[in-house]
Amino acid sequence: MSNLGFGEAKNNNSLRDGTRRTLRANQCEYCTGAIQPKKVTAEHWYEGTLVIIRDVPVGVCGTCGERYYEASTLEQLDAIARESESAQERMSVPVVTFALS
Ligand SMILES: [Zn+2]
Repeated sequence: MSNLGFGEAKNNNSLRDGTRRTLRANQCEYCTGAIQPKKVTAEHWYEGTLVIIRDVPVGVCGTCGERYYEASTLEQLDAIARESESAQERMSVPVVTFALS
């Protein structure tokens, strides 16, 4: 495919580009590593707004780190993000454009 080092990018899934994967078996579809249940902090895009959601239950490949989401969890992330106007906490993040230096 490419030699630009994008291989690791898939581990950092984001709904922004629709690449979140749902778990179909307890085996990673990329490296055949075993998938273990974990709770993670998810960066979830909902209607153009980024919402950080803690303690999201996912499956994580023990070998490559790929995350797998149950379809019901993805629906719940949307529902939680919809209510995020009343979030207890807010953070500001830098936004920059990628450029070669
Ligand atoms: Zn894997």
